Amino acid sequence: MVKRQRISITGRVQGVGFRPAVYKIARGLGLSGVVYNDTKGVTIELQGKEEKIAEFLVRLRSDADKPPLAEIKSCDVVEIPVIEAEGKFTIQTSDSQGSPLSQVTADIATCRDCLGEMADKEDFRYGYPFINCTNCGPRYSIVKSIPYDRPNTTMSVFEMCDKCAAQYTEVTDRRFHAQPVACGECGPKIRLTDNKGKTIETQTEKVIAETAHLLSAGKIVAIKGIGGFHLAVDALNNKAVERLRERKKRDHKPFAMMADSVEKIKKYALVSEPAEQLLKSPQSPIVLLPKKRNSSIAPSVAEGVSTYGFMLCYAPLHYLLFEQLNECGTDVLVMTSGNISDEPLICKNELAIERLACVADAFLMHDREIYRQVDDSIVHFVDEQPVFLRRARGYVPSPIFTEENCRQDIFAAGADLKNTFCFAKQNQFICSEHIGDLEDAEVYHHYINSIEHLRKLFEVEPKVVAYDLHPGYLSTQHALSLEGLRAIGIQHHWAHIASVLAEHGLSGPVIGLAADGTGYGTDGAIWGCECLIASLDKFERFGHLAYYPLAGADKASKEAIRPVMGLLKKTYGDQSSCHCERSEAISINKFGWLLERIEADANKQKIISEQIKKRINTVETSSLGRVFDAVAAMLGLGSYNYFEAQLPMALEAAIENEIEEHYDFDLINEAGKPLKLDLGKMVKQLIADIREEKTVSVISAKFHNCLAAGLLEMAKAARESTKLNTVALSGGVFCNRYLTIRCIKLLKKTGFSVLFNRDVPSNDGGISLGQAAIAAKQV
Ligand SMILES: [Zn+2]
Ligand SMILES: [Zn+2]
Repeated sequence: MVKRQRISITGRVQGVGFRPAVYKIARGLGLSGVVYNDTKGVTIELQGKEEKIAEFLVRLRSDADKPPLAEIKSCDVVEIPVIEAEGKFTIQTSDSQGSPLSQVTADIATCRDCLGEMADKEDFRYGYPFINCTNCGPRYSIVKSIPYDRPNTTMSVFEMCDKCAAQYTEVTDRRFHAQPVACGECGPKIRLTDNKGKTIETQTEKVIAETAHLLSAGKIVAIKGIGGFHLAVDALNNKAVERLRERKKRDHKPFAMMADSVEKIKKYALVSEPAEQLLKSPQSPIVLLPKKRNSSIAPSVAEGVSTYGFMLCYAPLHYLLFEQLNECGTDVLVMTSGNISDEPLICKNELAIERLACVADAFLMHDREIYRQVDDSIVHFVDEQPVFLRRARGYVPSPIFTEENCRQDIFAAGADLKNTFCFAKQNQFICSEHIGDLEDAEVYHHYINSIEHLRKLFEVEPKVVAYDLHPGYLSTQHALSLEGLRAIGIQHHWAHIASVLAEHGLSGPVIGLAADGTGYGTDGAIWGCECLIASLDKFERFGHLAYYPLAGADKASKEAIRPVMGLLKKTYGDQSSCHCERSEAISINKFGWLLERIEADANKQKIISEQIKKRINTVETSSLGRVFDAVAAMLGLGSYNYFEAQLPMALEAAIENEIEEHYDFDLINEAGKPLKLDLGKMVKQLIADIREEKTVSVISAKFHNCLAAGLLEMAKAARESTKLNTVALSGGVFCNRYLTIRCIKLLKKTGFSVLFNRDVPSNDGGISLGQAAIAAKQV
């Protein structure tokens, strides 16, 4: 019997070759009808025999027929009247059905089909460094405005040749409406220049061969990729890597590396099955992998950490380059962001030459403009789940879908460190890529521009702005400067927990454990380690790490001596029955041997001691990040965070074997006040262990275990009081794998169900999503 059905599909179904796939299946089954994009996704009207329509629905979801990048979120089918004598199945391409949310998708690694063609001497794109199709290639990074159509991308300056145009317009072709379609005849080209931008070579094969030659000889080459420039150097050549470090003014932060196969990565790092899948995924992020012992990677690539960050080639140019590198005997490259220290990633040719001339020996350039810089995403594994440390290329601007429609458009400004911002519109949260630390003037400028770009791209008209309570945040100041918007201030750690709720489509309440560096609290103190009974509507502070004094504002997150002295004061100062004067003297004299390990002269110690005593430039804090700094410094692992969380990472890396012992702690329950996790006993036992010269590995493990045990007890107390059984973990300290895995294990063993961030980072990169989710409940 002939029937007609209307099928409404939501999910990632626009701009991913969905309509051509529908067309192919429908025609193959002899069905008539039409497919078109609408405001929510794709609508299909199908007419034909009932069993054929049923078969269509099965095949649409099958791996063989579904476009690789498509993701079907929901699929509603209703029966509608049959149309007599309809004829064939057609694609309606005009998109006249209202304004689509956006067809802009993320930048995607080169697909297998394109790699095959690139290696095929018979193909007209043989050896072409910009080969792409509907299933792969640049998207977000080349879009200037909507609708997503070639004239609105940086490909507009390249006129398609007849061969490319034929594929672009053929509805059954893999390149149908693939906006960046090009070939050697009509598309972008590469060239090699010296460090002043003077062209050395333009012939594609020679450019690549010469670049490989330079890299093998230990030179630094700036390579223009998809989201910006990389600075590349042979990862096995320590001298070359050190030279890059020196020139880039990046003293310590680990460098990411690139290889052309998982087999090669396995020579240097341990690659689990899920990690391998992720490396090979279309998103192609940097994956943090445990180092193999005695690997031949240059030591200065990643010192003081236990992992290497590896990614696979993701642009055709990378593959062509590695083919040549293999001939020269070079295995893997350092591929670090093309910028100076913490400035934004550079993506424009002129700026690259201006700023990177002092770093790179040569430039591998091309003339396809990158409109938006997008950093590489960074992911690691927790509890067998991939977890973001940085969400950018490959994932942005893919939205996070919600069940309920947001009644008004919302702009969430994010936090100041590792900033991202977020828009809420209809049933989507659209999170920006990693923007960076706003205190850098260039990054702040980039932030302001990015907000406007993404707003236009997704046609958002915010009526509400959500911001962090910290009055000193630049993001907060920007949010409050926006006129005509309703402003909603949101506590930092509540936003962290809300980000977990939003990702999981929940509204709470849950027991939220935020383990974090610093965030402004509602009592004016600097919060950090918090147990919140939180929903998207409200939160209550159930417990927190007992406050300790922290002197020196911004310096406190860099100089470990500050939290060390704060914790000593808290632990020993308060015990003394006499007044501060004497106890200070006791502290410093008694712990002289300990403080000697930390780079800070006696004068500085005295000043900090005075500051704490007189509460000058000193805050009360429950920051957990700073406790990590202090412990790392007392163990002699360093005295300064040259990059964020350097000392905590060194402390985690020091753990060699899992041990079960932990230091003691107290939970202090005072009527009418939040429960306090007091680490005084931990500090004392830890210092005794240092005195007894226990190994750093053991002390570090006992410290981590103490925190996990303390957080567990906090959660149990919260369960006792609220009868809630779900715990949500978030905050920057949960970028620490050891702590996170242990917390999850202990909580699960105690019968809790545990949620943590998977779609956005648990660090401050996830704050904007939480802000948007909370604000969405209030409009
Ligand atoms: Zn492709
Ligand atoms: Zn062409």
